[in-house]
Amino acid sequence: MSRQMHARRLEGIDKNIWVEFTQLAADYQAVNLGQGFPDFAPPKFLQEAFCKAVSGGGLMHQYTRAFGHPSLVTILAQLFGRLVGHEIQPLEDVLVTIGAYQALFCTFQALVDEGDEVIIIEPFFDCYQPMVKMAGGKQVYVPLRPRGGSNLSSGDWVLCAEELASKFTAKTKAIVINTPNNPTGKVYKTEELQVIADLCIKHDVVCISDEVYEWLTYDGAKHVKIASLAGMWERTVTIGSAGKTFSATGLKVGWAIGPSHLIKHLKTVHQNSVYHCPTAAQVAVAEGFQTEYDRLGHPESYFQQLPTLFTHKRNKLAACLESAGLRPTLPEGGYFMIADISSVSFDSDDSISQDEPLDYRFVKWLIKKKGLAAIPVSAFYSPEHGKEVQNYVRFCFTKEDSTLNAAEDILKKWASEK
Ligand code: PMP
Ligand code: GLN
Repeated sequence: MSRQMHARRLEGIDKNIWVEFTQLAADYQAVNLGQGFPDFAPPKFLQEAFCKAVSGGGLMHQYTRAFGHPSLVTILAQLFGRLVGHEIQPLEDVLVTIGAYQALFCTFQALVDEGDEVIIIEPFFDCYQPMVKMAGGKQVYVPLRPRGGSNLSSGDWVLCAEELASKFTAKTKAIVINTPNNPTGKVYKTEELQVIADLCIKHDVVCISDEVYEWLTYDGAKHVKIASLAGMWERTVTIGSAGKTFSATGLKVGWAIGPSHLIKHLKTVHQNSVYHCPTAAQVAVAEGFQTEYDRLGHPESYFQQLPTLFTHKRNKLAACLESAGLRPTLPEGGYFMIADISSVSFDSDDSISQDEPLDYRFVKWLIKKKGLAAIPVSAFYSPEHGKEVQNYVRFCFTKEDSTLNAAEDILKKWASEK
């Protein structure tokens, strides 16, 4: 066939960091601190809820309501209504999706038109860029910049308010934010969200708020929902993930919550592409949320216990990266920690192309020669700005202690050889 088969909107988005580096880590049987998933089991109450749902009769294996199983949209509306401080209508304001990925996809397809500009804050979860492109939109980037100094925390990565304001034009349709942030771990403070909110209101722009790590904050950092700020509910789509909420990334249940005048357009995309999400998985997630709702704020809550567990894991990984000469930025939230590699040297060989950015070369070397997988941070930037951050790589710390110990052994051995 001589004619071009692919649609032009796919051009330049054929590479995917997860496909590439997850395969490389598997090929070299590396200790995997690359892809973000917990390598331990989800909580018992969630597993039991799933088993119960699967064996709960024939209807658990049939289609259910297109926009979300009734029990799931009901508890999501109840819980998030309480958090946002706004009554949420389960049948109008909630859409259940195949993971946060599909919630994001529906949002961009539904709200972004040809030529619309979408502001994306760098570093960003990589799929925002191809999703905006597939919707025909134009990405406009604005960076978080690290304040100078040593012993950085993710809170030291900040937006310049004037720079952000300068990106809003008559064509701006939406801004995407991600808090807690992947990859830095930044948890936006109310004042920072207020700057964004004021600009959204001033320019009549939609805010797409990716909050998949909302329950995971450390050292007293507090997750604030931008939808809870005055004037923001009616212009915000908040995205969540049961995979991240219950340490079960294979569940692929997610949601978009917002005012019905926005969500109804996401529903149009959803009903004509996916239609509905697996019934039993939704029922299990509904039950998981019901269990947590009843003990919210209590010590036995999984949403209380998980951040405590992850704080230990975060500190353990930070100490061991430091001992190998890497300089980690301590995250206030999420699954990940970025580390500065500029003070370490490594001898990349012919199997690693010298044309690639430093962080790509370093991670490939780390996987192939040391058996430890991470992710290059320039993958979370636009091609134009990736070069400026090629001194950083990302590690995932939400892993079994045995996995973190194996990583520590590798890093210690490397440090002793230097
Ligand atoms: N947003 C962010 C910031 C993520 O890190 C991820 C990866 N889990 C997603 C969205 C997609 O989530 P899901 O696995 O629920 O599709
Ligand atoms: N969100 C996860 C991460 O950032 C993985 C995404 C994926 O594997 N597609 O590591």
